[in-house]
Amino acid sequence: MRLGIVGLPNVGKSTLFNAITKAGAECANYPFCTIEPNVGIVAVPDERLDMLTKMYSPEKTTPTTVEFVDIAGLVRGASKGEGLGNKFLSHIREVDAIVHVVRCFEDGNIVHVDGSIGPARDIETINLELVFADLDAIEKRIDKTRKMLKSGDKKYQLELEFYESIRQTLENGSPVRSMNLTAEEQAAVEQLFLLTSKPVLYAANVSEDDLQSGGNNSFVAELKALAEKEGSEVMVICAKIEEEIAQLEESEKQDFLSELGLSESGLDRLIKSSYKLLGLISYLTAGPQEVRAWTITKGTKAPQAAGKIHSDFERGFIRAEIVAYSDLMQCGAYSAAREKGLVRSEGKEYIMQDGDVTLFRFNV
Ligand code: GDP
Repeated sequence: MRLGIVGLPNVGKSTLFNAITKAGAECANYPFCTIEPNVGIVAVPDERLDMLTKMYSPEKTTPTTVEFVDIAGLVRGASKGEGLGNKFLSHIREVDAIVHVVRCFEDGNIVHVDGSIGPARDIETINLELVFADLDAIEKRIDKTRKMLKSGDKKYQLELEFYESIRQTLENGSPVRSMNLTAEEQAAVEQLFLLTSKPVLYAANVSEDDLQSGGNNSFVAELKALAEKEGSEVMVICAKIEEEIAQLEESEKQDFLSELGLSESGLDRLIKSSYKLLGLISYLTAGPQEVRAWTITKGTKAPQAAGKIHSDFERGFIRAEIVAYSDLMQCGAYSAAREKGLVRSEGKEYIMQDGDVTLFRFNV
């Protein structure tokens, strides 16, 4: 899963991104820890992994991870090539979802590019740049489809009408994700690689004080109203506090959070929300060598889930031996779960569930 962090200058993107890279550096032993300076990798928090690690005492435990890309440089006029312009937009094309950081804190020492705090206006500025870029793209599509239509093939007429409806939405200044699409249309939209069709999570960046008092200031209310209109989610964070949390040892972290009256860090909430936003779940593998979590999309069948581990597993798939995480914990050991008949043998059509502890059987 790849998430792109966007937002106007001075809203707290780098602060949040620093927190992410620090948190990522903490849990080292990823073969791919440093890729590019603007990419940070963090573990998806999953307490089931800790419990399985206690049960199996494996040589290593490997969480599944999320990549965050810091996409700086978006300013008014980016779609026309201002700022980092096109480079910025191409980075957005490569992510699965967008985390849009919106400034909801006041601080006289930190200038706002437009002179005052205004979440709705800020969002509009960014969204419009993305809308403009999508308009360019869809108009090119429409031109191409018109030419194809001359061949007389009826399917191009339907395509053209669909693209026209997308153009209409964009011309109204609305993102494509606000359209009510059928599953089939949604699949067609994904082929267009539009920027405004990607799911968005708005991160309301509030001050330290506001976070402690529940994070409900008038800026956040303004942001929530706007997000609701397009069906997007809002989460409240304080980037500054996240940066502090990321520097703490795991044991200190819990104390610090409880002092603030919080149960988990904003970063953990952000990761969990993104998982939900993208319809992702994790299945688990456990043995004496490794306990590990694997990310799949909801609805993935067993062979494709096996393919996440290795393509040979998918090709030679025979069956999956599965026990639900909660059943395994209740029994206390795999052998006990098996005795109780809770280890199921599932075939090719089985749809994987979140928390399935899985052993794949396959031919090589
Ligand atoms: P970017 O341009 O969006 O990457 O913004 P930065 O992360 O560089 O933040 C701009 C300024 O705002 C820096 O001086 C940060 O210390 C400050 N800042 C960021 N987040 C917060 C926050 O949650 N509270 C306060 N008070 N200041 C913040």
